[in-house]
Amino acid sequence: MIPYGKQHITDDDIRAVIDVMKSDFITQGPNVKRFEDAFAKYIGCRYAVAVSSGTAALHLSAMALNVKKGEKVITTPITFSASANCVRYCGGEVIFADIDSGTYLLDINKVRVLLEDAPKGTYKGIIPVDFAGRTINMEEFKKLADEYNLWIIEDSCHAPGGFFIDSKNIKQNCGNGIFAELAIFSFHPVKHITCGEGGMITTNDKKLYKKLLLLRTHGITKEPDLLKENHGTWYYEMQELGYNYRLTDIQAALGISQLKRANEGLKRRFEIAKVYQKAFKGKSFIKRLSVVPEGHAYHLYIIEVEDRKGLINYLRENNIFAQVHYIPLHLMPYYRQFGWKEGDMPIAENYYQHCISLPMFPSLTDEEQNFVIEKVLEFFKS
Ligand SMILES: *Cc1c(COP(=O)(O)O)cnc(C)c1O
Repeated sequence: MIPYGKQHITDDDIRAVIDVMKSDFITQGPNVKRFEDAFAKYIGCRYAVAVSSGTAALHLSAMALNVKKGEKVITTPITFSASANCVRYCGGEVIFADIDSGTYLLDINKVRVLLEDAPKGTYKGIIPVDFAGRTINMEEFKKLADEYNLWIIEDSCHAPGGFFIDSKNIKQNCGNGIFAELAIFSFHPVKHITCGEGGMITTNDKKLYKKLLLLRTHGITKEPDLLKENHGTWYYEMQELGYNYRLTDIQAALGISQLKRANEGLKRRFEIAKVYQKAFKGKSFIKRLSVVPEGHAYHLYIIEVEDRKGLINYLRENNIFAQVHYIPLHLMPYYRQFGWKEGDMPIAENYYQHCISLPMFPSLTDEEQNFVIEKVLEFFKS
C-alpha cells in the first residue's frame, strides 16, 4: 500500500529514543532545549518553544497574542481545522477569506478588501498557512498587517525549510520571525519531520517567548526574576492559566535526530514533485498543475482533475491511498453554525471539487512513484 504521506524512521532515530529511555529524564528535559535550539537554528529565528502538537502550538500562540471573546481573526478555508480552531479555543471569531486560484494560499487581496470594508480595529490578526508547502509571501502580509495594526501567526506546518524571496531578493525562511509575531510547526508523522506527536512555535520576540514558556506548563514559573514572592527552594508561582502542553524528551530526541535529515527530505520531495510535473505536463485531464517555485517545501503534491472521485477510487483499487486536502473549513458543520455556507468561498469550493494529493514523502521509491503515475495515466486513458 502507498499512502499520501508517511514518516521515515532510521536506526539512528531509534537509537536516539532508546538513549533517552535509559536516561534520567523522559519528560521535558535537556533534549527539549536541544531540539528547540537546533530548530531555531534551522529556521533562522531567535527563539523556539517545543510543545505537544501543532494544535497546542496554535492554541498557545492565540493565547499569547491575547485573542479574546468575540475578536475577529482572518484565515483560509483550505487548511487543517486547527488553524482556525485555535481562535475558537480563546472565544474569538473566525473570519474566512477565499484562496488565490493560482497558489491555493490565502488571497491577500481578499484580506485587504475585508480590512478596507470594516471600521479600523475590527480585526485583530491573520493566520496565513503555507498550504501544501507553498510558501506565503510574508513580506506582503506583514505590510498589510502593519497598516491595520494586526498580528500574524504563520501556520508553517507544511513548510519547515521552505522559503520565499523578498523584494530585496533575499531568501526568507518560513517562520524566521521577521514577518510574523509567531510561526508554528507540527511534527505529526505525515509532516516533514516527526516526533510521533509534537509542535514548535518560533519567534524573535522575547516577551512572547517568555509568555509561551509559561503557558506551556500551567502558567507556572520558578524563575527568580519573575516571582512576586520567594519562600525558598521549593517555591513556584502559577501566574497565568496555562496548560500541560509539554513535549517529552523522548519525542525531542526523535525530533533532533529527524531534523538532521530535514534538508535531505526536502531535496527528495522536490525531486518527486519534478517527476510528477514532467509526467503530467500538458495532459488534457489535468485541470491545473502547480508549477514548482523555488522555496516550495512540498508537503503535498496536488493536481486538479475533472473526475476526482473516479481517480481516487481507481487509485485505491490499486492500493494507492491518495487524499483530499482540504474540505473547505467554512463548510464544516461546526463552522456552518456561525452562518458560513456554500457560495461564500467560491474559489476554495471549486478547488475542493477537483483536488487530489498524490503520494509525496521522502521514502517514496522511484518504482512506487512510477506505479502511481502509471495508474493515473491509465485511469484517464479510457
Ligand atoms: C498538521 C497541521 C496542524 C496541526 O498539527 P498537529 O500536530 O496535528 O496538532 C495545523 N495546521 C496545519 C496546516 C497542519 O497541517
